[in-house]
Amino acid sequence: MALKIWLNDRLVEKAEAKISVFDHGLLYGDGVFEGIRVYGGRVFELKAHLRRLFEGARAIRLPIPMTKEEITDALQVTVAANEIDDGYIRLVVTRGVGTLGLNPFICRDPGLFIIADSIQLYPEELYEAGMKVISATTVRNHPLALSPQIKSLNYLNNILAKIEALDSDVPEAVMFNHEGYVAEATGDNVFIVKNGIVHAPPVEAGSLEGITRAVVMKLADREGLTVVEKNLTRHDLYVCDEFFLSGTAAEVIGIVEIDGRTVGDGKPGPITCMLRERFYEYARGKEK
Ligand code: PMP
Repeated sequence: MALKIWLNDRLVEKAEAKISVFDHGLLYGDGVFEGIRVYGGRVFELKAHLRRLFEGARAIRLPIPMTKEEITDALQVTVAANEIDDGYIRLVVTRGVGTLGLNPFICRDPGLFIIADSIQLYPEELYEAGMKVISATTVRNHPLALSPQIKSLNYLNNILAKIEALDSDVPEAVMFNHEGYVAEATGDNVFIVKNGIVHAPPVEAGSLEGITRAVVMKLADREGLTVVEKNLTRHDLYVCDEFFLSGTAAEVIGIVEIDGRTVGDGKPGPITCMLRERFYEYARGKEK
């Protein structure tokens, strides 16, 4: 079945889902987006995703052409039309059609589209065995230049770090901020465990305020674990007991090697595995 795409105000066939070469989303990466999961036909953490989308849009002075309620309806229509039970939604708002100049205010009609498709997760073996990462030399965007809290259509900073990872034959890279503290991975948030305490870099260190991150923190707290937000260095990553990433697509995935150094005992740690399981149950509504 060919995908049906929500484009501005209605569903169209995939082949008809086209936007102008003059859209500033394409010309300048001027726009915002969300990646959202669907579990059992239910859109996961939708309120939090919509809040982040609207805040990012507000920060770049992009008026979203639909209300949160209208977007909610459009998401549900798109999920249903594509018969998605477990899947992934990409919700994108672009500045719209303008001229070749930068001026965003002459782009009259912001564009909005929704793609709902099946999900490409990392292979199951990677969750069992754990993933390898490197430290990227590409520094995360300075928060005073472009706040990493805005999930903008310009991902070049992350893509440069991703290229470093792929050149080193690993799937992910950890990015550091201009002060040398851990910011995040190219598309996921970072956590470590040391002496039974869960640590995460604060959002101000230069990361997206991950929705999976917030859920993981809540679940860790429920399990009686202490969660501390504090600046982390590369040294902290090298000597931690456990290391994992969180993100919409990846959920929770253990890291077992960084820059060729073994993390912990080389397997996803017990707290990582427990939180991965709790997250799985929470997302799929199978909480005990
Ligand atoms: N950081 C970046 C740069 C991201 O793109 C993402 C989303 N893929 C995340 C962190 C994780 O955020 P979330 O849990 O909301 O998906």
